[in-house]
Amino acid sequence: MNVTVIGTGFVGVVSAGVFAKFGNLVYGLDVDPKKIAALNQGRVPFYEPGLEDLIKQGLQSKNLSFTTDYPKAIKDADIIIIAVGTPSGKDGQADLKFVMAAARSLAPHLKPGAILAIKSTVPPGINPKLEAVIKQHTQVDFFTASLPEFLKEGSAVYDALHPDRVVIGAYDPVVSDRLLELHQPLASNKVVIKPESAQMSKYAGNAYLAQRITFINQIANLCEKNGADIQEVVAAMGHDRRIGEHYWYPGLGYGGSCFPKDVKELASYAKSVGQNDSLFIKIDELNEKRIPALMDAFAAKIGSWKGKQVAVLGLSFKPNTDDMREAPSRKVIPYLQKKGAEVIGFDPKAAQAAQALISNLKTAADPYQAAKGADATLILIEWPELVSLDLPKLKNAMRGNVFIDTRNQYDPREVRQAGLEYLGVGR
Ligand code: NAD
Repeated sequence: MNVTVIGTGFVGVVSAGVFAKFGNLVYGLDVDPKKIAALNQGRVPFYEPGLEDLIKQGLQSKNLSFTTDYPKAIKDADIIIIAVGTPSGKDGQADLKFVMAAARSLAPHLKPGAILAIKSTVPPGINPKLEAVIKQHTQVDFFTASLPEFLKEGSAVYDALHPDRVVIGAYDPVVSDRLLELHQPLASNKVVIKPESAQMSKYAGNAYLAQRITFINQIANLCEKNGADIQEVVAAMGHDRRIGEHYWYPGLGYGGSCFPKDVKELASYAKSVGQNDSLFIKIDELNEKRIPALMDAFAAKIGSWKGKQVAVLGLSFKPNTDDMREAPSRKVIPYLQKKGAEVIGFDPKAAQAAQALISNLKTAADPYQAAKGADATLILIEWPELVSLDLPKLKNAMRGNVFIDTRNQYDPREVRQAGLEYLGVGR
């Protein structure tokens, strides 16, 4: 099949690479010429494990190429996948300007019968609006569908090749059959439903996971008051099969490119339909307050942040990515600086990206250099190299002895044995 993926960001590049690997002729199309030039040379302009190899294989096989040329990429496309960004707009609503701009650009070049599948996370019910925009620019018949994406940054290639489910939102069986054929090499559950349900299932999934994080943080807050250890609580409750052991992350709340904006979008939608007591509004509020509340609590335990030198380890929003969207470091570091602390950061991949976004941030080449002369070391993200630090070496590098483990990755006894004071979350 001829497939064009519009938007070569995290999602679009992975999709383009995967569909080329399956033997389709794929164009990745973007308005950013620098990104396209890099991709055509086999360079992925962000860090994602395994993605560069996938793209190089696609280019070598000649199944994959990248372009900024809409007419060239659209005119023969059987399936067009929109994967442009949908950032939070005013009042938390999804800003659809990139989706609509892509629709206007592609419309004049559509071939009859083309399928336009929306992979971007968009509000349920957008398809008729998109069709109306496209019909202003073309006479040919075309179809729209929904193809929500569930990959996780940091394991995006693996997730795209082994998804838990492929969700296809389509009314017409001709369309769903074509999209099933496109995903045929994947041995995963395939769910064909209405486009509105497919789009809602994406928001519902992310909101559920965000809610799990918020829920366990609420329990962690209570553990702080009564001597319980949240990690022991999680281990015990996880044996209940209705609950499960997975996906419990007490800490600084959720961040990243998806959860915050998707929860805000649901909260905003709930308000717009009169549901002012919606759970999603509360989840968003609690998450917004989470970092300042925890940082204040740590300050109360160590005296104050004023005049302290702090090593902040892990600057991206999660391990194995250099994506800084809604990364905790973007709130934690300005908070510390405002309270009078000096910060030295470290991240295996995101130091440069962090410096571009966080004022006056100094970074070091490794965690021990970041901790040199520090009063406190703060682990923000559980990069593999940050969850197995040589604690005596860290202690020797530091001036003080405060070790703050916001991801609860360390055994408090081991940290204390190394002469450090352990502060975690809910333990
Ligand atoms: P991104 O910001 O990394 O990439 C978007 C790309 O679209 C950019 O390269 C941009 O130049 C391009 N673009 C913008 N307007 C365009 C236009 N008119 N024509 C062509 N290209 C255009 O975004 P992303 O993280 O890949 O997310 C894309 C969508 O997928 C969003 O709706 C997001 O919510 C959803 N999603 C993201 C993830 C994730 O982990 N990043 C996971 C699931 C779903």
